[in-house]
Amino acid sequence: MEASLGQKQNPQHQEEVEFSLVSVSQLSLSLPSFSPVVARFSYASGVAELRFLHESTDVVIADLTTSQLFKSGPVESICIFEGSEEKSYSRGVSIRFRSEAESMAFHSAFQKWKNEAVDQGTQLQNGAVLDSKNKFDDKIEASSAKIYFHYYGQLLHQQNMLQDFVRTGTYYAAVMENRADFIGRVVVDVGAGSGILSLFAAQAGAKHVYAVEASEMAEYACKLISGNPSLSQRITVVKGKVEEVELPEKADILISEPMGTLLVNERMLESYVIARDRFLGSNGKMFPTIGRIHMAPFSDEYLYVEVANKALFWQQQNYFGVDLTPLYGSAFQGYFSQPVVDAFDPRLLVAPPTSHVIDFTSIKEEDLYEIEIPLKFIASVGTRMHGLACWFDVLFDGSVVQRWLTTAPGAPTTHWYQLRCVLSQPLYVMAGQEITGQLRMVAHSAQSYTLYLTMSAKMYGPGADQGGILQTSSCKLDLKEPYYRMTQPQPYPVAQDQQSNPLINPLATVLFLV
Ligand code: SAH
Repeated sequence: MEASLGQKQNPQHQEEVEFSLVSVSQLSLSLPSFSPVVARFSYASGVAELRFLHESTDVVIADLTTSQLFKSGPVESICIFEGSEEKSYSRGVSIRFRSEAESMAFHSAFQKWKNEAVDQGTQLQNGAVLDSKNKFDDKIEASSAKIYFHYYGQLLHQQNMLQDFVRTGTYYAAVMENRADFIGRVVVDVGAGSGILSLFAAQAGAKHVYAVEASEMAEYACKLISGNPSLSQRITVVKGKVEEVELPEKADILISEPMGTLLVNERMLESYVIARDRFLGSNGKMFPTIGRIHMAPFSDEYLYVEVANKALFWQQQNYFGVDLTPLYGSAFQGYFSQPVVDAFDPRLLVAPPTSHVIDFTSIKEEDLYEIEIPLKFIASVGTRMHGLACWFDVLFDGSVVQRWLTTAPGAPTTHWYQLRCVLSQPLYVMAGQEITGQLRMVAHSAQSYTLYLTMSAKMYGPGADQGGILQTSSCKLDLKEPYYRMTQPQPYPVAQDQQSNPLINPLATVLFLV
């Protein structure tokens, strides 16, 4: 780990950030240069500013809304800003850093502070508003991002992911079995969290790993990494969003764990793709390489009744003298708009699954804003069908071993479990009957998706040729508001005979690869 950034609490605003610099020289020849210098980002005088201090005395103060920073060498930069007395002239300082990593960390902090300063609606003197927001800030509500990064800033949530042994063990195996892809290579860990994947990459022989993490977890990652001194020299923690930070070199391989429920929840796949476009060199690799969403219709009378019964409360006509029934219909629809997250028995599936592939190496970020998946199944049994069950897997397409991380029902349970969209109107199907429909996922600014599901069962038997649709059922769900159904974190018990569930064909994986 090379980045060194000290933080001090400022009770009124956000935390100040300080950097130690080798020197600062004013660009005007008549002014002296100072060494060493501390650069401090703060709101000390009510506006976002960058102060350069020598022996605890201000030598230069730059207003961040008017400042611009340019790299003039690996450890040198120039900062230009508006003169405080005479606004029609610019002032500037030449900055010398102790290392390239510190230069990089300083540039990231500068961009972040400047974005925030501009966000506050500050206008430049000439009336132009700086458009320095990044792609993340453009599409994600600030309130959602705040809660999101606060969540990931806590060790307990990182621990939860680390303790998902299927997840972390599969990443470890995929990296170690494919050492050849890491030895002597530059790696970027996209959303590094605790830094675990960076440490794996360094263990596998990476030349250097840039661990990019936007939340306060970056601080803990520094601590964890520096506590592993045999690896820390080859890891630099960069605090910031992958959409905004600058890195000094291109990567040979990206490693990341950007998957949410239904693969796409949290919209971090988009950050992974942006990181690819910003940091990955040509012919670079991505771990994981592709993801697949698998879907199949299911039948689960217990689940259906459980969800429907939640709304029964609103059927009371005398709740402390109040008739609650006017809200029954809305409450009923509300419960069916929650995707159900739990581990289910794969024997509940009523047809072989279909899948939708997302190739992380080639998909455009915008293509993740709206995803339309046509559905077509042939029912294996006659039953009442209650909705669509979904899960995902990702492939590490290593040059030595191709390894899958799966969240399929019946496979060892992960912290993602599986996801089911329950229809408020179940459909009756017969064995051999065709079930068609569509799953449309539309991204929203709260880092999740609205799901539009339609399922139809075609006419079966005599008269089917006329092509009439017998029944259709639709629902709209918010992936951000799931119903976590697990009463206790008990994995679905896998009996020996379920390993070879005919509906989750293990050959499908093999076929895909050839
Ligand atoms: N790589 C870690 C953490 C995975 S969780 C592990 O495998 O255990 C995803 C992490 O990515 C979170 O810590 C989150 O804060 C971070 N993250 C999400 N979006 C990001 C973005 N746009 N830029 C930087 N970090 C991001």
